[in-house]
Amino acid sequence: MLTFDNSYVRELEGLYVFGCAERKVAPKISRLNRSLAEELGLAPDELGSPEWAQYFSGNAVAPGSQPIAQAYAGHQFGNFVPQLGDGRALLLGEVLDRSGHRRDIQLKGSGPTIFSRNGDGKAALGPMLREYLMGEAMRNLGIATSRALAVVATGEPVYRETALPGAVLTRVAASHIRIGTFEYVAARGDFPMLKRLADYTIARHYPELQERPYIEFLRAFSMRLAELVAQWMGAGFIHGVMNTDNMALSGETMDYGPCAFMEHYDPLAVFSSIDRRGRYAYGNQPAIAQWNLARFAETLLPLLDEDGERAVGLATQEVDAFADHYRDAWLSVMRQKLGLKREEKEDASLADGFLEAMLAGEADFTLAWRALADTAEGGESLFGLFVGNRETLDAWLPRWQARLAREGRPTGGIAADLRRTNPFVIPRNYLVEQALEAASLQGDMGPFDRLLDALADPYAESCDALPYSRPAPREHTARYQTFCGT
Ligand code: AMP
Ligand code: MG
Repeated sequence: MLTFDNSYVRELEGLYVFGCAERKVAPKISRLNRSLAEELGLAPDELGSPEWAQYFSGNAVAPGSQPIAQAYAGHQFGNFVPQLGDGRALLLGEVLDRSGHRRDIQLKGSGPTIFSRNGDGKAALGPMLREYLMGEAMRNLGIATSRALAVVATGEPVYRETALPGAVLTRVAASHIRIGTFEYVAARGDFPMLKRLADYTIARHYPELQERPYIEFLRAFSMRLAELVAQWMGAGFIHGVMNTDNMALSGETMDYGPCAFMEHYDPLAVFSSIDRRGRYAYGNQPAIAQWNLARFAETLLPLLDEDGERAVGLATQEVDAFADHYRDAWLSVMRQKLGLKREEKEDASLADGFLEAMLAGEADFTLAWRALADTAEGGESLFGLFVGNRETLDAWLPRWQARLAREGRPTGGIAADLRRTNPFVIPRNYLVEQALEAASLQGDMGPFDRLLDALADPYAESCDALPYSRPAPREHTARYQTFCGT
């Protein structure tokens, strides 16, 4: 059984409405995340019972749960929308997991709420399975993320461009407080509520900062955001919709819509069909994170200083400092990816040099990094990946090798480190698409399960994992798009 303790409901009245899920006639559990269930303190056999299909579909309310739709605002593609809110989600409540961490349990696709506007409140099976898969992949890569506990097939169609099987996702997150939650309160000029929300968020996600000036909260979030985006960049992950309503104050990745992992290295890579101008392209993510941080900083102004001008000065300093936090976080990710433990001044330029070589060589991002382990041991697998120009790589390699020599560590150890930081398997778009199509159109969960298995340890090189490690055929990557809001 889950023991709910709903602090958001208790402490933040005014930031939500109570909600009811829509009844589903024949909900069936499609996928259950047993290891996550265990983390939450649930017995695996308990979960398989028909009762849980009712809870996970929203048909029944688990004891202690108080379903709410959270209010939030947000900047969507740069434009402010003063009211968004959970239009197809319900927060069931919070539980303390086995390590004592407070986790939100949320249903997504559970039916309309007062925040639905023109939406139907529903979700299709494919995108919910995508969220499940991506969350697990990110988690196994060691990147902070929300995760899926269950996917329930509703047995009812949802109507998008065509009729698709409907589903409800149960999502577990450190919380669902977003930059947009602060924007919602700030736009209403509700100072007492702003203070309550900030204090609540600090107590929940930055407890070491209680009783400290709010500027430290801004700084701490800035550092967490820098760290998160640096990890995305290191993994070749493109979130796809970095709107401020999709940016969690906890520092977790959330809202997997049209997200994707990059194949060949390209800073302009964009996969979302709605991101026509490339606002959220791979290479723009750090700058967008800073832009989002600025929107967050604006909401905090009244808490930073009574004097408006001084508040703006303080906030501006922190937003500017994000660039340094990001640079540090990125450099640390890059050093690991290059097999470097010592720090040298030229390391950033060394990392940039490899990226330039990849760009010129049209190399697969994941495999090029991975092949460095082999190169460190004298292997030649790297060269085959540079299908375009190889001159930049040839010029770069001796630099890196000289740098490795200055590490003063045995080659075998460096190679092993490189294999621990550069994954062999990522969720490649064409494989994700195949898995979701089989599940959604043919009811065949085989490809999904096998892909999920291959992603369980993305750093392990095995015969089973081999087919999942290969780049997509080029024609596929050129046309690849994922669709949002389905
Ligand atoms: P997203 O782009 O998925 O982060 O969603 C942005 C906003 O649109 C949020 O307020 C969602 O709750 C809402 N929304 C997205 N899809 C639907 C839907 N099918 N029905 C109702 N609201 C939706
Ligand atoms: Mg969202």
